[in-house]
Amino acid sequence: MGINVIDKIYVNGEFVTPHGTEMFDLFNPAIGQVIGQVQLADEVDTQAAVAAAKAALPAWSATTREERIDALRRMRDAVTVRRDELLEAVRLEYGAPVRNEWMVDSAIGAFEDMITTLETFEFTRQVGNTTVEMAPVGVAGLISPWNADAFFIADKIATALAGGNTVVMKPSEMSATQTRVMTEALHDAGLPAGVFNIVTGRGDVVGSTITRHPDVPKISFTGSTSVGKSIFRDSADLVKNLTLELGGKSPSIILDDADMSTAMFGALASGFVNSSQACVAGTRILVPVSRYEEALTAAVEQLADFPVGDPADPATVIGPMVSQKQWERVQGYIARGVEEGARLLAGGPGKPEGLPDGYFVRPTLFADVTNDMTIAREEIFGPVLSIIAYTDEENAVEIANDTDYGLHGYVFSADQERAKRIASRIEAGRVSINGGQEGVSTLPFGGFKQSGIGREYGVAGLEGFLETRSVLV
Ligand code: NAD
Repeated sequence: MGINVIDKIYVNGEFVTPHGTEMFDLFNPAIGQVIGQVQLADEVDTQAAVAAAKAALPAWSATTREERIDALRRMRDAVTVRRDELLEAVRLEYGAPVRNEWMVDSAIGAFEDMITTLETFEFTRQVGNTTVEMAPVGVAGLISPWNADAFFIADKIATALAGGNTVVMKPSEMSATQTRVMTEALHDAGLPAGVFNIVTGRGDVVGSTITRHPDVPKISFTGSTSVGKSIFRDSADLVKNLTLELGGKSPSIILDDADMSTAMFGALASGFVNSSQACVAGTRILVPVSRYEEALTAAVEQLADFPVGDPADPATVIGPMVSQKQWERVQGYIARGVEEGARLLAGGPGKPEGLPDGYFVRPTLFADVTNDMTIAREEIFGPVLSIIAYTDEENAVEIANDTDYGLHGYVFSADQERAKRIASRIEAGRVSINGGQEGVSTLPFGGFKQSGIGREYGVAGLEGFLETRSVLV
C-alpha cells in the first residue's frame, strides 16, 4: 500500500491546504510501520477557522429546532455511507480490533442520539412570570484524543450544533485518517459554510490557539488530566465555559456474594475495553480477602477469553497500543509494578509471543497490589490490571474512592440492591452494576474529582453548550 498523504484541513466549507508545513507520520500500530503523513495546521489556519465559525454564528444560532434536526439527519446519513471506510481507518491507524465495530457505530449513533434529545429539549422554560431561556454559548472549540476519535468528532460536533453554536474542532493529530473520512462525510451533508471547521494540528499549536482565543467562549476537551489542567489554566483569563472529560483509574468491586467467574469476566472486560486505551477502563479490581485465591484463579482462567493479536483477526480482543511511545509508557508501568512489590500473575514485560513487530503488550495481571502503588494510582492506558484485596464493604468503598479520579466504577454482586447501595457511595460519574449498559450513550457522562468538569451526552451534554438566561418581568 502506498503512503497516504493528508494535506487538507476544512475551513469555511472548503478543503484547503494548510498554511502550516510540518509533516507528521501516521503509523499502523499492528506492524509498526509508517502508512501515511498528515500536514499539520498552524496558528494562521486556526485563526481562519475561528473567523469562519464566528461569521457563521449569527445565522446558525437563529436556525430552528427543525432545521438543526434536519442537518443532524443529513450528517448521520453521510457518516453511515462511510461506515466501511471508517472501520478500515480505525483498524489501520489505531489498531482497533475488527470486532470493535462500536467505534464507528457510536459515531453514527451520536447524531441519532442528539436528534432524539433535540426533539423534546426545552429551550425555554416558564417559572412563574419568568422565562428561562437556553442560549448558544457561541463559537465552540472542540479538542479530542486518539482513542475513539470518530466518535468524539461526531458527538462533540452534533451536540454543539444542536445547541446553535458553531465549531472549530481539533481532533488528535494521530487520528488524521478517521478525521479525513469524517470530514468528507460531514462536508457531503451540505451544512452552511463555516458552521463547523476541522483543523488537524498539534495540541500546543492549534489546540492552545483555540483555548486562548477571545472569540471562542466554549471549550469542550476530552483527553488526559495533565493537558486538561493546562487548558483550565489557559481558559482562566477569559473565564471560558469549560467541559473537561479527563482520565480515570476506575475500580471494579467484586462483592463477596458474587459468582466469581462471571464477575471476574465482567471485571476483565471492563479493564480490557478498547485494548485498555479507554478512560473508563476498570483497572483496579477489588476482591474480598475471604475469596482472594479463588479470585486469582478465576482471573487467570478468564484471561484466555481476552486474546491479544492482529486487529484484523475477528478473535482478537486486545489490539496494539497506538504508538511506540504508548508501548514504552506501558512497559514502564509494568517494570514499576514489579519494583514496588506487586506479584505478576499473568503477562509481564516485552511483547507477546509471535507478535514482534507491532506495539503489542502482554495482557498483564498484577496480584498483591496495594492502593498506594504507582500502578494503582496512575492511569496506564494499557492492558495492565491490578488486583487488590479488601477486608469488608467499608474497606472496599474506601479503597475505591482513594484515588484522584472519579470517572467510572463497576460493582458485581448477586444482590442488586446491595450493589446499588455500594454504587451510591462511589465518587464517580458513572457506576455500572453487573455490566449494566442501558442508556450508555444518552445518560450524563463525566467525572468527579480530577476526571473532569461537566457532563456530556443527551440532555446534560446539550446543556453544556448552552448559557441560561432568566428574563424577569
Ligand atoms: P492528550 O491529553 O495528550 O491529548 C488530547 C488532545 O489535546 C489532543 O488533540 C492533543 O493534541 C490536544 N492537546 C495537547 N496539548 C494541548 C494544549 N496545550 N492545548 C490544547 N490542546 C492540547 O490525550 P491523548 O493521549 O490523546 O488521549 C489519552 C487521554 O485521554 C487519556 O488520559 C484518557 O483517559 C483521556 N480520555 C478521556 C475520556 C473521557 O471522556 N473522560 C475519553 C477518552 C480519553
